[in-house]
Amino acid sequence: MQDMQNRTLILDCKEKIGQDVVICGFVQVRRDHGKILFLDVADRSGIIQVVLGGGKGTDLRPQDVVKISGKVNKRPEHMVNKNIPTGEIEIYSEKLEVLSKAQELPFDMGGKDLDLQLPTLLDFRSLTLRHPKVKAIFKVQAAILDGFRKAAKDLGCTEIIAPTIVAGATEGGAEVFKIDYFEHKAYLSQSPQLYKQMLVPVYERVFTIAKAYRAEPSVTTRHLTEATQMDVEMGFVEFEDLLDGLEGVATKMLKIAEEEQSEDLKEFGVEKIAFGGIPRLTLREAQEVIKKEFGRDNTKEKDLTPQDETDLCKWALLKHKSDFVTVTHFPTSAKPFYTKPDPKDPEYSLSYDLLFRGVEILSGSQRINDYQQLLDSIKKRGMNPENFEMYLQAFKYGMPPEGGFSFGLERVTMHVLGLANIRQASLFPRDMERVDIRLTQNSKLKTQK
Ligand code: ATP
Ligand code: MG
Repeated sequence: MQDMQNRTLILDCKEKIGQDVVICGFVQVRRDHGKILFLDVADRSGIIQVVLGGGKGTDLRPQDVVKISGKVNKRPEHMVNKNIPTGEIEIYSEKLEVLSKAQELPFDMGGKDLDLQLPTLLDFRSLTLRHPKVKAIFKVQAAILDGFRKAAKDLGCTEIIAPTIVAGATEGGAEVFKIDYFEHKAYLSQSPQLYKQMLVPVYERVFTIAKAYRAEPSVTTRHLTEATQMDVEMGFVEFEDLLDGLEGVATKMLKIAEEEQSEDLKEFGVEKIAFGGIPRLTLREAQEVIKKEFGRDNTKEKDLTPQDETDLCKWALLKHKSDFVTVTHFPTSAKPFYTKPDPKDPEYSLSYDLLFRGVEILSGSQRINDYQQLLDSIKKRGMNPENFEMYLQAFKYGMPPEGGFSFGLERVTMHVLGLANIRQASLFPRDMERVDIRLTQNSKLKTQK
């Protein structure tokens, strides 16, 4: 795509030594050395040092948007900066135009890390997102999305967009946002689940990247009220096919992300992902591992505890060289109504979670595809089948054996990068206390004139 007339991207200046160029970007840092002034200027391709002569630029400050005309020079050998791709060159300029002036920043953005408390990081989100290391999080996230899309397409899935205004709660429980819908009540969808299932008889295999809303009443480091799910649903499959499918997508997606963003990942100092053979355990087997290896008897619990998830991943890494573990067969009563009970032992279901580096990043199951069984399951849970009329139509008129799975994008991003809090992995996170601005008390954010 054509950029602003005559503009050269900063990274391309490497090919223009000795030539005149025009660059556009944001001032990162200004260093004054007597009459000469040094700037670090960044654009979407990279960062470069600019030497300003002729007394220009003395009133420049970080985030000023500038257009600079000058000559690309090779730096003297002892001045080469090995840490950046443009470290062997600099631009000498005496001609500078300020395209937009920035106000004084509320904190220093010039360091390698942006050392702020989480509330401040989020209060000034449109600004803090510009910091190279914060920006990198969402480049990695974009690569994860790209990896997911490629992996889902390779499975033969068609991309669909599901509605998020819905008539009922899909995942059960109280964690659903009610909305005023004219003179009616409606809800924000907790997942694209029902719609992806309804499209199985249409396309057989579908995927979607969808917003999901959960009125999570607690504040944790891994829950948002608005999250992004990456979902797949496939017809004509059996349980083992689904396990192969989810592990295949997880592996392909993260290999692509790691490859596309290897430079950014290096900045975070995280280990390369361990892709050894992924161990598969039933919930009961997983709880036996916890008892035997970690001395905690949780064998009667309906789910893994957060500590179990952490320990199981430690075990998988040590014993199987895998950052992933697949856990199957959760109790039927702990799973949503559409989950298929194991015909061999109906107390347990054909469900699964994928754990990655200590947390659940995915859930899924084989689904009930028999109309009557589905109707019974809805009634058994005290729900009204009338609220699921359109969904049930899909089953009434022929539904193949099917199943699927759902990744949480922000959870995956968080653990690929080793971030401490899921809020760091959402561009504009929503939680109990925040919808951009703080909802509680008088917001501490000072708007600058
Ligand atoms: P958890 O038990 O961790 O609260 P869940 O089992 O309720 O999650 P699912 O309904 O299985 O969540 O959703 C599929 C995936 O979406 C999860 O594995 C997780 O990665 C992600 N996810 C679910 N709820 C949230 C949330 N509130 N915030 C961020 N991600 C979420
Ligand atoms: Mg789950």
